[in-house]
Amino acid sequence: MVIDQTLSNFDQMQFQAEVLLELDHILMTKKIPNALLLSGNLNTGRKEAAFWFAKGANCQNSAGQACGNCISCRKIDAKTHPDMLTIELVKGKKAISISQIRQLGTVISSRPNEAYYRMVLILDAHLMNVQAQNALLKMLEEPPEKTFFVLIANNVTLLLPTIISRCRSIRFLPLTFQQIKNILVDEYKADPLLAGIAAKTWDADVKKAKTWLNLNPQEHTIDWIARRKWLIASLLDITLPQDKQDKTSIQKGLLLSSKLSLEPDLLEDMMAIIKTFLRDLAVSFHHPQKIVNLDFFDSFTDISKTLSQKKIFKWMDSLFETERKLTSNCTIRLTLDSFFLQIAQT
Ligand SMILES: [Zn+2]
Repeated sequence: MVIDQTLSNFDQMQFQAEVLLELDHILMTKKIPNALLLSGNLNTGRKEAAFWFAKGANCQNSAGQACGNCISCRKIDAKTHPDMLTIELVKGKKAISISQIRQLGTVISSRPNEAYYRMVLILDAHLMNVQAQNALLKMLEEPPEKTFFVLIANNVTLLLPTIISRCRSIRFLPLTFQQIKNILVDEYKADPLLAGIAAKTWDADVKKAKTWLNLNPQEHTIDWIARRKWLIASLLDITLPQDKQDKTSIQKGLLLSSKLSLEPDLLEDMMAIIKTFLRDLAVSFHHPQKIVNLDFFDSFTDISKTLSQKKIFKWMDSLFETERKLTSNCTIRLTLDSFFLQIAQT
């Protein structure tokens, strides 16, 4: 199967061979279901797969696979096709609301403008509130003419069982660490050591790993390679035994906390790095060669000699608690202070 490179972020799609075969089979047999439910992790290519499928269903030149050249294919690629409808979370809102679904109902009550099959794509479908889901259910029960729905959901347990049972479910599998590393090295010529670190830090998410290696030009506003180095070095410095330090580790911990709290938007990613740090401390007791931050191999081996495993597990508990507090709107500075003070008191 040829994957259309004109759609962005197809990196992960090439590893979804089974899924593509299934979608392809549906197109070839021309049995377009009323609704598809594409589940799986973030950035596994589900949205791209939905448009690829919609092109195949509407192509004017070929039965099944999209030609990429006809008006329909070109309009879908250019995102100008009037019958490709997308419902997504409105910025600043926490749920997809019933009014969004009602508006959709008005649009799809008439025939498609030009498509053989109109697509209604619902991104983050798991974020529909119950009222919205019930409204959608009515549409799935009495499907409008020449229209199919595609629901993309990360967490299907948040969907009503009655919705799930009306969809054909297709699961996108996460990529392995090695697959991600290979993409980064082979296709993007990333440094193998850094590619390995990025792939492990951002488990199963090529897009994120690419951003981290500064390989997404449009998102290259922060030098993540330098950020990670700085953060790991700072954390190692705080956890070093007291006699090897100039400033006290408590001062350093508080300084780090203040720096991190100045950039709340980056905190989630910074927390992911801190997680790899604690994980590496625990791993370096028995399998030092399996740590994530291999460029700090010697430091981790040295430090693990001065710490007990019990203490590291306690820090991990504390990190989970810190994450919980940060997502429940506790004061960032105070929450981070308390975490870094704990790991500074070695
Ligand atoms: Zn075509």
